[in-house]
Amino acid sequence: MENCLFCKIINKQISADIVYSNGSILSFRDINPVAPTHVLIIPKFHISTLNDIRNNHSNILGEIMLAAKEVAAIEGIAKEGYRTIFNCNKNAGQTVFHIHLHLIGGRSLGWPPG
Ligand code: AMP
Ligand code: ZN
Repeated sequence: MENCLFCKIINKQISADIVYSNGSILSFRDINPVAPTHVLIIPKFHISTLNDIRNNHSNILGEIMLAAKEVAAIEGIAKEGYRTIFNCNKNAGQTVFHIHLHLIGGRSLGWPPG
């Protein structure tokens, strides 16, 4: 989608530090990490928010979670543990409107989130 930051990363108009990629998923380091590992996992096609997912998106959502497992293994944090988060809209602080799973780890994480 035009003017979507993450679509521009998918289209290589903007560079990113890629961690993992396959036919349907792209995973890259967050530009403003909040932990030693902070990776974003996105579908290679545009969906704005979790509110916009449809029944035919179930495969891609599964692929995002499978990619999260791969990224945790690549980063060496699978055993110690990590957190996965989708922010949706204003109250969750969503700032980029192309769905992305945050994978955060490499340190102990507080709960509940702020
Ligand atoms: P959210 O607040 O859930 O929408 O998360 C958006 C995330 O995208 C934030 O953690 C930003 O630091 C991150 N971000 C913004 N621009 C870039 C970029 N060009 N490359 C990598 N991460 C980015
Ligand atoms: Zn997009």
